[in-house]
Amino acid sequence: MTDTPDTCEKLLIDAADTIGGESPRLDAELLLSRATGWSRTSFRAWPERQPSPEVIAEFRALVQRRVRGEPVAHLLGEQEFWSLPLKVNASTLIPRPDTECLVEAALALDLPEDARVLDLGTGTGAIAIALASERPAWTIDACDSQESAVELAHANAKALGFPIAVMRSDWFSGLPRRNYNLIVSNPPYVAERDEHLCQGDVRFEPASALVAGPDGLDDIRQLVASAPAWLEHGGWLLIEHGYDQGDAVRQLYGAAGFQAVETRQDYGQRDRFTMG
Ligand code: GLN
Repeated sequence: MTDTPDTCEKLLIDAADTIGGESPRLDAELLLSRATGWSRTSFRAWPERQPSPEVIAEFRALVQRRVRGEPVAHLLGEQEFWSLPLKVNASTLIPRPDTECLVEAALALDLPEDARVLDLGTGTGAIAIALASERPAWTIDACDSQESAVELAHANAKALGFPIAVMRSDWFSGLPRRNYNLIVSNPPYVAERDEHLCQGDVRFEPASALVAGPDGLDDIRQLVASAPAWLEHGGWLLIEHGYDQGDAVRQLYGAAGFQAVETRQDYGQRDRFTMG
């Protein structure tokens, strides 16, 4: 058999074959782009281009890690959210596109121009940073219970030039006393025994960012009950939750005295967050 040269196109076809799963070609292109430093569009414009043997070895190592299940975002060290490049690592949840629906709803609220905003359990800082990118006059605080997440969110905000105060706090417990016009959160909300936890990217994400008790509602219960004391009169609380938790979360809002309670859907038309 004659050896066909390792062109970009051949490397991509072989890698996509090995990777399988939901988006093998896209995964392969992202990893080859990472290894070569060449853009994804260049692979279409110049499919016969040949990377050096060292680069090919690096690419194959990334493909092997992907085959073992590691999330593409971890292999790239980066994930785009709200068109902003965020650094990611294994210490936080990888930002999901569906959370952009919560950002959109927050931006559509009727809030003061100089609103004070809090992002609870900020992880990479995704929600806080997206809001800061759209509303430079807002004062935005963010917190996380994990020191590694506080560092990551701080680094992301700083790299993109947004003045967000990132604090270490387990929900409200470690925060300075203050009232907010808007509180947002994407807390853990997966049930302990959910089989979702055994598949795909979540296997490589921290349980502290995903799992919340037997029904997945432990943290949301605590957040909704505590939030009124931290909100300005007429302030808003927006919390992300599972597609099947809308009824339960609306009840929690009602019990805590919230009005105008409403559940909204994500890009896949599943219930995804509740506001009030
Ligand atoms: N939506 C995420 C998932 O299904 C969970 C995010 C979370 O718990 N905050 O993997």
